[in-house]
Amino acid sequence: MEFAAFAARADEIEATAADLETVALVRDLFSVAEDDLDTVARFVQGRVFPAHESTTLDVGPTLCYEAIARAAGHNVSAADVESRVATVGDVGDVAADYDFGGQQGLGTFGAGGGAEGLTVGAVESELRDLAAAAGAGSQDRKLDLLFGLFNRCEPPEARYLARIVLSEMRIGVGEGTVRDAITEAFEVPVEAVERALQVTNDYGLVATVARADGESGLDDLHLEVGRPVQAMLAQAGTVTDAVEDWPSVAVETKYDGARVQVHYDGDAVSLFSRNMEDVTDPLPEVVGFVEDALGVPAILDGEVVAVDDTGEPLPFQEVLRRFRRKHDVAKAQEKVEVQLWAFDCLHADGEDLLDAPLTARHDRLSELLDSRVSTLTVTDDPDEIADVEAEALDAGHEGIMLKLPNSTYSPGRRGKEWRKRKPDVETLDLVVTGAEWGEGRRAEFLGTFELSVRAGPDAFETIGNVATGITDEELAELTDLLAPKIRAEDGKDVTIEPSVVFEVGYEEIQTSPTYSSGYALRFPRYLGVRDDKDPESADTRARVERLADGE
Ligand code: AMP
Repeated sequence: MEFAAFAARADEIEATAADLETVALVRDLFSVAEDDLDTVARFVQGRVFPAHESTTLDVGPTLCYEAIARAAGHNVSAADVESRVATVGDVGDVAADYDFGGQQGLGTFGAGGGAEGLTVGAVESELRDLAAAAGAGSQDRKLDLLFGLFNRCEPPEARYLARIVLSEMRIGVGEGTVRDAITEAFEVPVEAVERALQVTNDYGLVATVARADGESGLDDLHLEVGRPVQAMLAQAGTVTDAVEDWPSVAVETKYDGARVQVHYDGDAVSLFSRNMEDVTDPLPEVVGFVEDALGVPAILDGEVVAVDDTGEPLPFQEVLRRFRRKHDVAKAQEKVEVQLWAFDCLHADGEDLLDAPLTARHDRLSELLDSRVSTLTVTDDPDEIADVEAEALDAGHEGIMLKLPNSTYSPGRRGKEWRKRKPDVETLDLVVTGAEWGEGRRAEFLGTFELSVRAGPDAFETIGNVATGITDEELAELTDLLAPKIRAEDGKDVTIEPSVVFEVGYEEIQTSPTYSSGYALRFPRYLGVRDDKDPESADTRARVERLADGE
C-alpha cells in the first residue's frame, strides 16, 4: 500500500469524531491494505512494532526535529521546528507545513522512494533499520535514515511519519477500534478476535490471520513461549466485598516488587516486565533460578522482589533500579539481590492454561516449581483472610491479593476477579474494655478483645471485638499487659479496666444494634498498642459517627 494512501485515510479518520464511523473507516483501510495489512494495523495506532517485540525506535523529539529541519532546507533549524511545535502543539502538523517536495529525488536512502512514492512496507522496513542502529555513530545513522524518509514525503505523509516516529498518532484509533475493524473487515466474531489478540498481543498478526483463515485461523492462534502477553491486572477491593460477592476467596501475599512474566522454552529463559520490555539481562539470578527449577517449557506470572542479606523484602524502588540496569549488572546484584515469587501459570509443557480456573493454574504452578510459589489459601472466613494478611505484613510484604478461585486468566484485563486489598485509610484508637480467654493451645492467653470508643468522661461504649492480626508472641505480651487489669470474670469473658488503647484497622464502619455505640467495624484488625495514649485520648463516638458518614 502506498504510504500516501495510508496518510489520506488517516486524515479522514482524524476528521471523524463518531466511534462507529471511525471503525468503518479503519475497516475500509484494512480492506485495501494489501500486503501491508500487518503494518497498517499497527501504524493506525501509532505503533511501529508489535507490542510483544522489545524493539524500540529510540527516536526522541530532538532527533526528529533535526531530521525535519534537514529535509525542510538550509534555512530551517531544529530550533525553528521545536518552536513551531511549541506553538502549533502537534509535530505532524508542523512537518506537513514544510515543503519537503523541493528535495525529492535527492534522497538516496533505502527502498521504496523515488517517483513511485513511499510504500507502507518501505517505511516500516526503514524504521526497522533505524531501530537496529546501535553503537558508535548510531545517532547519525538514525538521523540520516529519518531525513531520507522525510525527504521523500508529501505533506500528509510527513504528518503521519512524524507522528508515528514519536508515538503521537492521535487520530482517535485505540485498541478497541482496531479490534472492531478487524471483526467487520474480515467478518469474524469479535470474541475470536479478542481472544486472538490476548494470546498473541499482535494486532498485525491477528488482522492477517483473520483475513487469510477467518475464525478457524484465529482459533488456532496460541500462546507462544518467548512472546509476552499483557499481564492480568487488579482493582482495589475490600475483604468485606470479596466475602460477600464470592462463595469463597483465594487469598495470597501481595509482593511489593515489579511484575515479571517468565518464559522458559526448555532451554533458555526470557523475562519481561509489565510493559513487556525484555528484562532478562538485568536479572541473572532470576534466570538462574528458573533454569534450575523448571523442567518443562512454561510461561509464568510473578513478582520480582528485592531482598536484603537476611532475605527480608526491600522497598520496590530497589527492584526498579535493577530492572533498569543495563551495565555492571554484577555490581548491582552485589548491592541488591532479587527473588522471583511466582503466582500464576499461563502455559505449561505445550498446554495453554488461560481458560483454566485460577486454582487449577496454581496447582500446575506448584507442580512445576517447588519453591518461591505464592501460597494460595481458599476460604470464606474473614478471620482466616486476616491471618493471611497479618502473616504477609509480618514477613515485610505489602499486603494481600483477593482472587476469584475459578476465574480464568484475562491478559490486559483490570477486572473484579483480582482485587488488591485497599490499605486502611484511617485507623481508630480504641480502648480495650473486655476480653475472652482463648481455647486449646491459646487457653493461657486472652484472645478476643472487646473494643470501645470514648463517649464522655470515664464513659465507654462498645464498637466490636478484635481477634485477628495478632501473633502468638503478641498474644502473650497482651495477656501480660491486660490480665492485671481484669475487673470481673464470667466464664471465659472478662471485663477489663479501661487503660490500654489499641490501634485498629478496619474496612468500613456500619451502624449496628449489637454494640452500645450503635456502630460496628467491618474486618477489624489489631495493628498495635498505643503506648503513648491513655483512654482519655482514645477516639470518640463522635469521630466514629463522622467517619461512618464519610466526612
Ligand atoms: P498495583 O500495582 O498496586 O496496581 O497492584 C497490582 C500489582 O501487584 C500487580 O500488577 C503485581 O505486579 C503485584 N502483585 C504482587 N503480588 C501479587 C499477587 N500475588 N498476585 C497478583 N499480583 C501481585
